[in-house]
Amino acid sequence: MIRYAYICNQVLQLYRSLPTISFPMNPQLFFDQIKNCKTMAYTTFAEINSCSINDVLELCESESGCTHYDVTNNRYLVLFNSSTSNNNVIGRIRWTLAHELGHVILKHLSYLAEPRIAENNFNKLSNPELEAEADYFAALLLCPMPLYEQLHIQSAQDIQRVFGLSVEASNVRWNEYLKWKRSHRKTAWENDLKRLVNQRLEIK
Ligand SMILES: [Zn+2]
Repeated sequence: MIRYAYICNQVLQLYRSLPTISFPMNPQLFFDQIKNCKTMAYTTFAEINSCSINDVLELCESESGCTHYDVTNNRYLVLFNSSTSNNNVIGRIRWTLAHELGHVILKHLSYLAEPRIAENNFNKLSNPELEAEADYFAALLLCPMPLYEQLHIQSAQDIQRVFGLSVEASNVRWNEYLKWKRSHRKTAWENDLKRLVNQRLEIK
């Protein structure tokens, strides 16, 4: 079961931790606040470990990114592909980082840590529920629907421009928004988020 309310509150807390809020949201701001979590580009990791990018891709089992959890020391290492070739645009990198941040904030890896991670630390998470939670988290963090009116979002192109998502993701979000608008009821969480952003939004 996806913990929607829990994820909403986690995102609100992260927003609260920022003195000013601006979009596109930079996930690195939140990683910087987590003492036991580091982010590193595939290229840097390859350099440090004197291996090839292909080795890193194999290790991560992912073209976009992965999160490594060191159970013994309770430390996270998020590796991400910073190369913009192969259609890995800035928007996709932003999404990957937000998704991996979701795994860390929602404590997915400590949950999975028993017993497998000990023999294969670079686990590609294959639990669909946890993946869905991380995606829900990323969407809320990067482009929360309750803010669309406030930020004058009126098309997929607006999503792409304001929130810095890829064309693909922007289209998906826009279609979801149209559905959401038809069926959704206002919540206290939503009001808190809107108020907070009203107070702290920094127009670039
Ligand atoms: Zn994932």
